[in-house]
Amino acid sequence: LQQICEICGATLHSSGNRIKIDGAVMQVCNNCAKLGSLVKEGEAYAAQTSTFQASLRSASQNLIESNYELDQDYHLKIKQMREKMGLSHEDLGKLINEKPSVIRLVETRKLKPDIILTRKLMHYLKINLLVPLSDLKS
Ligand SMILES: [Zn+2]
Repeated sequence: LQQICEICGATLHSSGNRIKIDGAVMQVCNNCAKLGSLVKEGEAYAAQTSTFQASLRSASQNLIESNYELDQDYHLKIKQMREKMGLSHEDLGKLINEKPSVIRLVETRKLKPDIILTRKLMHYLKINLLVPLSDLKS
């Protein structure tokens, strides 16, 4: 049975990490683990119900809308990290399976990435682009 990261879809070579985001427990890779709080084994199994997959999916889809906001400097962070890693728009596009033009638009702030694209960028560039809403309010 091959396990994949439930956030970015990367193949998990070990058993991965169980983290909790917004009440949903997810099996994720090391890069995505820092996006939530680590869950102990017992806790994770207790949360595994028949509706688990469905609730997880809706929870993850609504992540930005409910508890997180896209970092205001997302375009700068993406551009800086891409350049630091020596990747062209084309290189990064291939990595995350998007057109280079999409990355150009995101970096010039003409396009706000959706949660799926945001997660792919966070995973491959190893940066966090989400800010908890509670942090913005305080
Ligand atoms: Zn991941």
